[in-house]
Amino acid sequence: MIRTRFAPSPTGFLHIGGLRTAAYAYALAKHSGGKFILRIEDTDQKREIKGAREKLQGVLHKFGLRWDEHYIQSERAQTNVYKQAAQQLVEKGLAYRDLGAIRLKTPKDEKIEYHDFALKKTISWATNDIPEAVLLKSDGFPTYHLAVVVDDHEMNISHVLRAAEWIPSTPIHLLLYKYFGFKTPEIGHLTDILDPEGGKLSKRKGNVSVEQFLELGFLPEAILNFVILLGWAPKDNRELYSLDEFVKAFDPAGFQKSNPVLNQKKLDWFNGHYIRIKSDTELLQLIKPYLSEITLEIIPLIKDRLTTLVQARDLAGFFFTRPQPQRVDANHLRFAIENYDKLIKGELTEDIKNQGWKVGDFFMSLRLAICGSKITPPLTESMLILGKDETLARIKL
Ligand code: GLU
Repeated sequence: MIRTRFAPSPTGFLHIGGLRTAAYAYALAKHSGGKFILRIEDTDQKREIKGAREKLQGVLHKFGLRWDEHYIQSERAQTNVYKQAAQQLVEKGLAYRDLGAIRLKTPKDEKIEYHDFALKKTISWATNDIPEAVLLKSDGFPTYHLAVVVDDHEMNISHVLRAAEWIPSTPIHLLLYKYFGFKTPEIGHLTDILDPEGGKLSKRKGNVSVEQFLELGFLPEAILNFVILLGWAPKDNRELYSLDEFVKAFDPAGFQKSNPVLNQKKLDWFNGHYIRIKSDTELLQLIKPYLSEITLEIIPLIKDRLTTLVQARDLAGFFFTRPQPQRVDANHLRFAIENYDKLIKGELTEDIKNQGWKVGDFFMSLRLAICGSKITPPLTESMLILGKDETLARIKL
């Protein structure tokens, strides 16, 4: 049975690359009816952030990434599993004590290698280049290296999937598997997600946190669909996947070798798509956190124009807040007031032309007076929702 794990350190937010790792690990297990395990790697107590674990779990749930088993390393550390494992290596002469810590011993002049099932290549190291890494710190807590190997073994992890930044740690783990006499799991590293400006995606250059994308009103379906295609591709050119569809289609052969670039336009496109396939009532509920006054009748007017949910504020805020008076041609407004009934029936075009005005100019004046912006939902429908009194009040201002 395939057993995979997602093993984040709770640092306060989930990186878009972390979500991708979790989705791949989930799909790899679930594709064949295996198990997906969430393991919180929080043994670095200095980096621990209060509430970070609960936040992370909440975010994973939003994406439907449900785990079958759940472990917390700091709790496991209380049972001394890691300490005993480190001591066992000291006894076997494969690790040594050093200033209160326990360090790995590395053999001289050997070669160590593994085949990466995601990158599809064999990577090898000379053991002389492997650092004598700390396994157990003087505070008795394990380092990542020790905890990851002990846990992946005890939790029967068959496939390890993680970010490429962990490749340099892998030879340390390979030695540990060997020293403990554990079977080495299949190991796969994922490509780096690149920033469009070049280099690895980083917080300094722009938004990389899943929580932030959610706050802006990107839908979980869109974010997930977007990230799974950053570094993985199906044999056909299919682009739209729900989580379940992705699980069905998933095949590690689809991992791409080149580093994908985060293309924000593509994410916008996915989000627009998932917004538009929502029912009006669903969308109403989704927009409420951004614009609490929103009503169902407004939804059809803005649905096709939204890229993110937060944009509902700009597009539909004028229904609830009178715009600042704008500088527009007063003759246009006067004419609109005098001919209101014809106007909302859409029968005023000829009369506007007969005034010697351009129809576009006339409606732009109205649009600005009523909505306070040049980009708005359809004007006549908006006027109907606002009602005659409110519409005229705005035109008269
Ligand atoms: N705790 C590591 C991280 O935060 C996990 C690395 C691994 O999956 O082995 O990314």
